[in-house]
Amino acid sequence: MQTERWKISVGGIVQGVGFRPFVYRLAGDRALTGFVTNTPDGVVIEAEGQPAQLRNFLDALRKEAPPLSQVGEIVAGPISLLHDNDFVLRHSTVFGPVSTLISPDVAVCQDCLVEFFNPVDRRFRYPFINCTNCGPRYTIVLRIPYDRPHTTMRDFVMCPACRREYDNPSNRRFHAQPNCCPDCGPQLGLVAVDGQRVAEREEAISEVVRRLANGEIVAVKGIGGFHLAVDAANGQAVSRLRRRKKREAKPLAVMVAGLETARKLCRLETMEEQALESQARPIVLATKKEDHGLAEEVAPGYDQFGLMLPYAPLHYLLLQGPVRALVMTSGNRSEEPICIENREAEERLAEIADCFLVHDRGIHLPCDDSVIALQGGMVRQVRRSRGFAPKPLELAGTGEMVLGVGAELKNTVCLLKGKQAFVSQHIGDLKNLEAYRVFQKSIDQLASLFEINPSLIVHDLHPQYLSSRWAEEQKTVPTLAVQHHHAHLVACLAENHHEGPAIGIILDGTGYGPDQTIWGGEMLVGDGSGYRRFGGLESLPLPGGDAAVQAPWRTAVSYLFAAYGENAPELPFMADHDCGMIRSMVRKKLNSPLTSSCGRLFDAVAAMIGGRQVIQYEAQAAIELMQTAEGLGEEVFPCEVYEENDMLKISVRSLIREVAQAVQTGMVQGEISRRFHAGLVAVFTRVAEEARRREKINTVVLSGGVFQNRLLLEGLLASLDRVGFEVLLHKELPCNDGCISLGQAVIGRESLKKG
Ligand SMILES: [Zn+2]
Ligand SMILES: [Zn+2]
Repeated sequence: MQTERWKISVGGIVQGVGFRPFVYRLAGDRALTGFVTNTPDGVVIEAEGQPAQLRNFLDALRKEAPPLSQVGEIVAGPISLLHDNDFVLRHSTVFGPVSTLISPDVAVCQDCLVEFFNPVDRRFRYPFINCTNCGPRYTIVLRIPYDRPHTTMRDFVMCPACRREYDNPSNRRFHAQPNCCPDCGPQLGLVAVDGQRVAEREEAISEVVRRLANGEIVAVKGIGGFHLAVDAANGQAVSRLRRRKKREAKPLAVMVAGLETARKLCRLETMEEQALESQARPIVLATKKEDHGLAEEVAPGYDQFGLMLPYAPLHYLLLQGPVRALVMTSGNRSEEPICIENREAEERLAEIADCFLVHDRGIHLPCDDSVIALQGGMVRQVRRSRGFAPKPLELAGTGEMVLGVGAELKNTVCLLKGKQAFVSQHIGDLKNLEAYRVFQKSIDQLASLFEINPSLIVHDLHPQYLSSRWAEEQKTVPTLAVQHHHAHLVACLAENHHEGPAIGIILDGTGYGPDQTIWGGEMLVGDGSGYRRFGGLESLPLPGGDAAVQAPWRTAVSYLFAAYGENAPELPFMADHDCGMIRSMVRKKLNSPLTSSCGRLFDAVAAMIGGRQVIQYEAQAAIELMQTAEGLGEEVFPCEVYEENDMLKISVRSLIREVAQAVQTGMVQGEISRRFHAGLVAVFTRVAEEARRREKINTVVLSGGVFQNRLLLEGLLASLDRVGFEVLLHKELPCNDGCISLGQAVIGRESLKKG
């Protein structure tokens, strides 16, 4: 057999994930000669040997790739023979621009855990243990190439033992940039509220474990920022945390040591267990068991716990004490981004935490825990952040580099380059100054890590959003404004590699419409190049705007007034409120913007049936309304549909009248909720069928935060499926506003193609 030499280029996530040592081993096993190196475009291999071995090698490159890598395109072709003597790992001497990818942060791996719990290992109980297959990445990288001096580990000089591991291609810590040990790496310290360091290293751990058992609130520095930790079985301690954090009712995440404990707290499906144990270690929303044994205050009035397993080695140490479940909530004051620096935490969390467990490995970018939930037969993102960002989404097509700056709430940003979409970690509410800073920093970070110079910046149609204003301030790059719900539709199409057009059922709280009303219960027909508002919920007055968002009873009074006029029935919930004031605001059109919001419709119904009148966190009224239903029944509230201004309008007023009559006849809350949900499923299916008839489109996209309501999502999915629609849902991004930046960017790219 004739010897051949092939040049092989490998793209994707192949840097800092043990890919070159892996290639080295594969080549050795097949007696190939040549070299492997990093280049600006990924890993390049030149390999010489028998063609059968080369083919086998190529095959193994993809099939046996190391766990953290994500092999993209492989290009291979023959070149001239060089007759090398061996196969070498070539250091990348000229390290030009690098477009290989930085991986997300990864939970500590099994190999490292074995060492971590081994009393004779030199890293026994060392909280910063990591290797090529695990540890922090995105949150510690300052710039590319991903090399130690370009990470927050730059100040730690490796000891000889660590250095040997780092330099040895057959060691599992070869080129593990955060590699370190107790002799040369970061250390823990415990800081009291007065700023005094009260314990170091092992002693800090045992002191924290003791304090947690005593019900203290400990701010713990982790991978993507600080957590506030407290014993989840201690009701008083959890209440104190809620009081101090000014977080009255919103569920708090819980961390347990392993699946065994998780199973005692929640009924877990296989997919939920897999998600809990995945490398990303997200918070998984799962159904509570009756006898969970945790404090009611952890998730009051909520039928699920947000569970997660340890992902930093430190977390394992915290859970080795008597406390078997820890509340681990973001270390922030309400609505602010998570704290990442020791000083910053000691200041911003001074009134919340009893002490601070800090360390000296820097966090460059804050990254909250991700949240996922099993919905419609698949695990879906609720908040995509640590463990997922900045892993790119693969797009169907390519085009120019574009930046989408996202929505105002649940903000993310997205940069397109080639076929890849880089969506940032969850940034949060931009009205918050700290979040706005993280927004700017995240754009800079993603643009520089992946070398993206956008030729267009796309922002929301709302001129007052801080993201819109930021976009307009970037004088050198042209901008484009995109409607919020159009962005939802296109994000979902892009994730599904579907060109469209599709019928978009986009249900959420708020999005600015070109008619300057607030949209939110929309049926659009369109694709990346444009859309038409086919129909949706009719618009009704929202007395007080944001004030009504906080107080669902206001919306209820207004919608009843809209449904009945002056003869609106007196329902029991009205006794506690100043309904006259609301009616007068609506009559005089005083600060009562029109909205077709689906979120507000849920609010109104919840308040009307005697549910939540004033909310303590976003969507609380709707969540509680859904929980009372416990499934969909056969009976539905019928809902009228009418044609107006070339649109098919769904009569919210007819639904409100049905609900009001049900309340008057004494129907129980659960039954009203069931019929209301089923009524929405029925009417949206009906209008979708009409859209199909008129537009000859059989694809439906479901997007918008309201679809976090599993009853509505699963009900509508089944109903649309029954009448033969192809239904597209989000796969990798949340259905809420976290997906907006992707939709914006894709629409922007389309606009550039049209010229
Ligand atoms: Zn490891
Ligand atoms: Zn060392």
